[in-house]
Amino acid sequence: MYKCPSCQARTIGLVSKWAARETSPARCRICGELCFVSSVRSSGIFVASVLLLTTSGFLAVGTHSPLLFAAGLVGVFGFYAARWHAVPLEPIPHAHVIPGTKAGALATLFVVLQSMSQ
Ligand SMILES: [Zn+2]
Repeated sequence: MYKCPSCQARTIGLVSKWAARETSPARCRICGELCFVSSVRSSGIFVASVLLLTTSGFLAVGTHSPLLFAAGLVGVFGFYAARWHAVPLEPIPHAHVIPGTKAGALATLFVVLQSMSQ
């Protein structure tokens, strides 16, 4: 559980933190305030992870070493998890929530996964 930036209670779960955006912030069960991870930070983690994975893929192909790619994959997963663990939650007033739906984050994930499978 992660600390609510408003009341400091550990009420925000990992999945809630991962999905918390300006359009679909996480809600603290204690104080009811909203918090989110900024799109700049979440996009930065995603882009850095993709770049690291691509780099490990090129290194694996260049050295003909599938083990290098597997090690890179594990390393990228570790990097992604560590960055999401460390990224701060920011409070957002109820009035500042950008209208949207939680389906937006899922739709983005679906598009990314679909583009990776082609
Ligand atoms: Zn709270």
